[in-house]
Amino acid sequence: MDFENENKVIVIGGESVAPGQNKLLKISIDRLPTGTLIDIPVYVFNSKNPGPILLIQAGLHGDEINGIETVRRMLTDKLFAIDKGTIIAVPILNIFGFIHFSREVPDGKDVNRSFPGTRKGSLASRIAYHYLNEIMHQIDVAIDLHTGGGQRHNFPQIRYTQEDDFSAELANVFNAPFTFSSKLIKGSFRNAAYLMSKPTVVFEAGESMRFDDFSITAGINGILRILQHFGMVKSTIKNREELKKTIHLDKRKWLRAPTAGMFIPKVLNGSQIQKGAILGSVSDIYGKKTKLIKAPEDGYIICINHQAVVNQGDALFHIGAILN
Ligand SMILES: [Zn+2]
Repeated sequence: MDFENENKVIVIGGESVAPGQNKLLKISIDRLPTGTLIDIPVYVFNSKNPGPILLIQAGLHGDEINGIETVRRMLTDKLFAIDKGTIIAVPILNIFGFIHFSREVPDGKDVNRSFPGTRKGSLASRIAYHYLNEIMHQIDVAIDLHTGGGQRHNFPQIRYTQEDDFSAELANVFNAPFTFSSKLIKGSFRNAAYLMSKPTVVFEAGESMRFDDFSITAGINGILRILQHFGMVKSTIKNREELKKTIHLDKRKWLRAPTAGMFIPKVLNGSQIQKGAILGSVSDIYGKKTKLIKAPEDGYIICINHQAVVNQGDALFHIGAILN
């Protein structure tokens, strides 16, 4: 992918950030019922030297705080001090969800199913509309930070779009423990970005409302690797972990609760599993019946549900496998 040879003035919320400037801007959305204005804060680091324009965003789901903390630590540690190109960093996209400890906005709609959005639509649709119109035409690539929903804990994994080779390359550079392509979901940010030809990767790590340092560190390191790959930061920034090569998964499936009861996982997230291995059990609460959950094939555990009480059909393990 070629990036333009000239650095641009970034304009968001009617304010400009010229090359060589760093600013905190706002995208105005609406008011709370109390009258308080709600803005999406947007940090812009615009280097003097031309280079790619990267969007790094978190909190599209308001309760997915590992991504929010990833961006916060990078801001605090001044890791967005770049030598070339531009970073647009959005720590919390869904402010309404964040203050309600919720994935969605107050009416229950998911912003990540509301893109491209409309100016006069529901709240989620308006957030999507303003966000897309203020930011997307100005960027080259995007990194979207998420966690598992509910109590599902995703082992750090980077997802790209099969039809977009550049997103696959970005995912590879990010080098999360697991890498795979995932289908575009209608209304998602990644789908909207794809339709605008903006290569995007989605990093999923940890679970909602719970800090996971391993996931946060994996996120920071992945973003740093992408910045280094584009030559935006000096290569003297050390990655904080031993560089292990990512595992590419060709297929994935959910293992679901065979019955209702107490769910006891017996394996660690991220671990390699062999066909027939016992992964966990679901027991009735009277100690009479226990159903074992076994690995249907060789592979890896990439998500575990931390919900202790489950209903029949609940997703318990997400497993990934490599085609031979
Ligand atoms: Zn999410």
